[in-house]
Amino acid sequence: LALLGPAPGAPCCPHGPALLFVKTSQGKEEGRRFYACSACRDRKDCNFFQWEDEKVSETRLAAREEYNRNHQPSFTHRQNVDRYKNFVLLPSSKRRFCQECQQLLLPAEWGKHSDHQFLCDITTAQLKSPSQLLYPLENKKTNAQYLFADRSCQFLLNLLVDLGFRRVLSVGTPRLHEMIQSKASQEEEFSVRSLLLDIDFRYSQFYTEDEFCHYNMFNHHFFGGEAARETCRKFLCEENGERVIMITDPPFGGLVEALASSFKKLMAMWRETEKEGLDNREMPTFWIFPYFFESRILDFFPSFSMMDYQVDYDNHALYKHGKTGRRQSPVRIFTNLTPSMIVLPEEEGYRFCTVCQRYVSSGNQHCEICNSCTSKDGRQWKHCVLCKKCVKPSWFHCNNCNCCALQKHSCEKTDVGCFVCGKAGHKRSACPSLSHA
Ligand code: SAH
Ligand code: ZN
Ligand code: ZN
Ligand code: ZN
Ligand code: ZN
Repeated sequence: LALLGPAPGAPCCPHGPALLFVKTSQGKEEGRRFYACSACRDRKDCNFFQWEDEKVSETRLAAREEYNRNHQPSFTHRQNVDRYKNFVLLPSSKRRFCQECQQLLLPAEWGKHSDHQFLCDITTAQLKSPSQLLYPLENKKTNAQYLFADRSCQFLLNLLVDLGFRRVLSVGTPRLHEMIQSKASQEEEFSVRSLLLDIDFRYSQFYTEDEFCHYNMFNHHFFGGEAARETCRKFLCEENGERVIMITDPPFGGLVEALASSFKKLMAMWRETEKEGLDNREMPTFWIFPYFFESRILDFFPSFSMMDYQVDYDNHALYKHGKTGRRQSPVRIFTNLTPSMIVLPEEEGYRFCTVCQRYVSSGNQHCEICNSCTSKDGRQWKHCVLCKKCVKPSWFHCNNCNCCALQKHSCEKTDVGCFVCGKAGHKRSACPSLSHA
């Protein structure tokens, strides 16, 4: 399956313009092109489908429009902002949150939710950390909401403050956004601002239109239309010399090319607001993603490099930073900032390699032959003279395949490898690197 990208005049599903795809075989297009939902890779979440050359009748178009309208959230963002204003005026005994509807309730609405589970006495602290109040949408294929562990979130925030940024465009990073917001409301001298762009509309209950835009990062769609787009554009204007950085942590099962296309559009928005003289600068960006996507990301953003820092998550069994028998997180920071400026915590074992001019993880040895610190996964890699590069410690050179592989691999030449990790024997949908066990 290949993505042909966002196409002008594409039909819309409830998640905005659909993306154009085509089936491919051995790199060649095969069969009819079709449109499918940009956001949901699981048909159960959105089953939108249309052949590119399909004639859609007026009645079907009308039905589709009605369907799209009916599948919008029941309250608008404006209504949610007004509801919040009323909610905070309530005494704590009357502050309820419906866990089934994931909604703050006003007393007049209690009746409608009487047989739902709810939380009472919602505190101001809870309202300031919606990511703790809302349950994470973990359905793997669509939302894949994996929240930063406090340690990693704190690290990111300190890093961007130290780098001198005063505005953060938080694309799919609600926990970072919330950490910035609550710090700003508590500490006088903390002057960082954040705008959250996320497809999870539940956040509109907690943030104003200047703090949150309902946004789809797979098709660059602002659900709030021109007004929301303008909010984002204004935020990217670096008034008073307040420098902006974009930080994004997309779902890993996502289509890298679709994400890259949206990020380029956000970067273009930033560039358009720039005063002259900065034409070939790129908006500073952290794209948080697994290391095995490195070559894919670099295809789209040659100016990016991958940092060794391992990003940890709270609700992710595999990527958690345990005290004993730590499972190493495969998630890294990709950035267009100069690597030497990204200072990684020495107390966690990271050290500075003066040759590579960047911080590397403790197990990452500088290879004299490659002349770089070559480990991608944090373990010490070994150099293979035949492959002329460093490989994973568990690999051996296979003379049949003429490359390094696991000892127990099967030698037959399978066709093109997995789109995600490059290994043969499985497709991207079954890639073990993506399984969250
Ligand atoms: N680690 C981050 C959360 C990353 S999880 C944090 O702790 O802040 C991925 C995030 O992307 C979720 O917030 C999810 O709601 C959002 N997301 C998923 N699909 C999206 C889409 N199509 N457009 C915009 N945001 C999306
Ligand atoms: Zn309810
Ligand atoms: Zn090095
Ligand atoms: Zn080497
Ligand atoms: Zn080899």
